[in-house]
Amino acid sequence: MFPSADNRWCTSDFKRGPVRRLMTRLVREAEADGHQGRVHILNVMGLRADESPARRRLLSFAHDSAYTCPCSYCAPRRAIADDHEARGLPVPKHARTGWGASNTLRPVDTWLPVHTWSTSDVWAAVRPSGLRVHPAYAAGMPRLSCVFCVLASRSALVRAAQLQPELAARYAAVEKRIGHRFEADLSMADIIKEAETSPPVAAVACWQG
Ligand code: SF4
Repeated sequence: MFPSADNRWCTSDFKRGPVRRLMTRLVREAEADGHQGRVHILNVMGLRADESPARRRLLSFAHDSAYTCPCSYCAPRRAIADDHEARGLPVPKHARTGWGASNTLRPVDTWLPVHTWSTSDVWAAVRPSGLRVHPAYAAGMPRLSCVFCVLASRSALVRAAQLQPELAARYAAVEKRIGHRFEADLSMADIIKEAETSPPVAAVACWQG
């Protein structure tokens, strides 16, 4: 079935997973260059608080804690968690290490340098910088995601289908083959119908909703 907000295997398998494989490769390269001990990694990402309630709750700098990380932040939590589990008690929230990217080979910290920026702040920095802007923005998309994102608004999906009709048709063919819609209450076939009957959208106003 297609991913959904509650079942985002797209993010875990196609974003987090490959990034963690890259981290492993970086550790191996550092070791091959003679580095001794754990390789400290700083993971810098462009997530912003304005993008969603979940992103608003993130800290702009945090250790990516994990059960297998032996650092002075994770190890005491693991000890408390193990003790509670051994006694058959629920693990208290403050003792949960999570399943972040750190492990015995690498402590990983996450930094979100533009976490507090608004969309206008981003464009005010990008425009004079000379950076190339992805054509999806000029085509009216409010975000650069997967072409058809399961979290996108209906209007963003319709615009994406206008821009990429062949890909939309492939999604619709998959829907038919597996017998499941792209979203529980919205099929790609419906999105395609709307894309074909609507005038080209100059700019999609919002991402969600
Ligand atoms: S952009 Fe959307 S569809 Fe793509 S990985 Fe992220 S949540 Fe999933």
